[in-house]
Amino acid sequence: MSGADPGLKPSQNYYTYCPLCNGIFHEESTQGLLRRKSPAHFAHRDGCEAAILPTEELLSICSWPDRVRDAIRQRRTEQQHFTQNNTDGVDATLFVQLAGYVGQISSTLGMPEPERAELERVAQDLHDEATSENPEPGRLRQFTTQLKDKLGEAGTTMAATMGVQMAEQALGALGQ
Ligand SMILES: [Zn+2]
Repeated sequence: MSGADPGLKPSQNYYTYCPLCNGIFHEESTQGLLRRKSPAHFAHRDGCEAAILPTEELLSICSWPDRVRDAIRQRRTEQQHFTQNNTDGVDATLFVQLAGYVGQISSTLGMPEPERAELERVAQDLHDEATSENPEPGRLRQFTTQLKDKLGEAGTTMAATMGVQMAEQALGALGQ
């Protein structure tokens, strides 16, 4: 008997592919001498848009390219919202500038030493918060308000007045 048994012929349907890049789906497996566990995944080609979808989600819809494209679009929108909310919420630049400015002028304000040290400490706290990975609006507001009050008490010199204005501007950018 000759000829290949059609049942043994490698068939498209036997494997699962990414509908966009034809990257093949690998089931969860353990590999190598150390029996390292490799999670289920699609071997996407570089730049494949479907790569932003979780494996399970893509697996469940991979037979319907249109649904895959919809899912990609939806996920993009979600990510965009996330980024916008994060950056719109806090513009850290104004706070970094304010903290730096206070550091520059603090010794020119004629404040008693303990108060000057306290002013610089708050400016440092503000700087740390504003340059952290995820600045907390509540803490930015707290430190900035403290700086504003201290600068206001420091008198009406040009330098202090300008610091108060910068603080107000920064607080305004936080929204109420
Ligand atoms: Zn792909």
